[in-house]
Amino acid sequence: MTDNQIYYDDDAAYENIEEKTVAVLGYGSQGHAHALNLADSAIDVVVGLREESSSRDAAQEDGLRVATPTEAAKEADIVSMLVPDTVQPDVFAAIEPHLEAGNTLQFAHGFNVHYGQIEPPEGVDVTMIAPKSPGHLVRRNFEAGEGTPGLLAIYRDESGEAKDEALAYAQAIGCTRAGVVETTFREETETDLFGEQAVLCGGVTELIKAGYETLVDAGYSPEMAYFECMNEMKLIVDLLYEGGLGEMWDSVSDTAEYGGLTRGEVVVDDHAREQMETVLEQVQNGEFAREWINENQAGRPAYKQRRGAEQAHDIEAVGEELRGLFAWGEAAGEESEDEAA
Ligand code: NAD
Ligand code: MG
Ligand code: MG
Ligand code: MG
Ligand code: MG
Repeated sequence: MTDNQIYYDDDAAYENIEEKTVAVLGYGSQGHAHALNLADSAIDVVVGLREESSSRDAAQEDGLRVATPTEAAKEADIVSMLVPDTVQPDVFAAIEPHLEAGNTLQFAHGFNVHYGQIEPPEGVDVTMIAPKSPGHLVRRNFEAGEGTPGLLAIYRDESGEAKDEALAYAQAIGCTRAGVVETTFREETETDLFGEQAVLCGGVTELIKAGYETLVDAGYSPEMAYFECMNEMKLIVDLLYEGGLGEMWDSVSDTAEYGGLTRGEVVVDDHAREQMETVLEQVQNGEFAREWINENQAGRPAYKQRRGAEQAHDIEAVGEELRGLFAWGEAAGEESEDEAA
């Protein structure tokens, strides 16, 4: 059914990475998981962090070798770029002189390469292994003997071995245990940005706030509005995750199913779909990327303003109070929630 190739453990060969040194730049969500999984797979790993980085102690306490990004890149065959996307161009500028022909520059997201913010030197392979999950799950699954699904993309293959090496890397961090889907830098970048903007992060939060405001403005209590529009979202999403649309519709009442099937499209109507197309166009034509790059260069004024407004929304205060009053989540012994997309 899918056109994209999917690779598993049997498609990867450890010998394609076992002799190589991997520099993991950054020790955040992805960085710590890649570095520890690679080290557990007996790969020579060096974590590249600035002298003043607060992550240095953590990496050392976890038993890893730490150097500056420049030193790490100098000795590495594979440089895994796992600092935040917005700082990658600066880190790249510092390490670029140490990328030699035959080396690989690897990413977990295609933004900077796809939008031309990083232009790797000739002779260097450019690849992507992107676990489809926050780093702490990549680590936790690996330790439990399980895998995390991931994406593989080859942007440039000058050695002729880029895919074999990337698959071996994916195996060493546990991704081929679950399955690795082949894609391109363009497809990964554009679908990731569109998804987080229109559906996951932006779409869901606006839907929640709009529903909450509609109920509260009509005179219903904020507590009821919070439960209906925010808290129950998790129950629905869990069902969708487990068994798709069908399992969700089967699990809710027939009344909810009929009402949802007839009214959902009234809310997410043709206008909303046209707006989605506009959002996608701005991703595809680079308009969003330029805006975000400029926003960072300007010190993030709009980002800070929007973030402040979101934190000040009534639903946040109502939610905080309610979450404190009920025994659920961590208080009820459940595991802490995973980070967002
Ligand atoms: P993060 O913000 O969790 O970690 C950043 C790390 O980089 C920290 O250890 C920090 O110390 C270090 N760092 C910050 N500024 C630095 C600088 N100027 N120089 C050197 N090091 C610096 O980042 P992340 O979320 O793990 O993202 C890394 C990459 O993985 C990104 O390309 C991201 O798009 C991608 N990705 C993330 C996730 C996720 O769930 N977090 C999932 C898939 C892909
Ligand atoms: Mg090198
Ligand atoms: Mg994503
Ligand atoms: Mg993203
Ligand atoms: Mg209900």
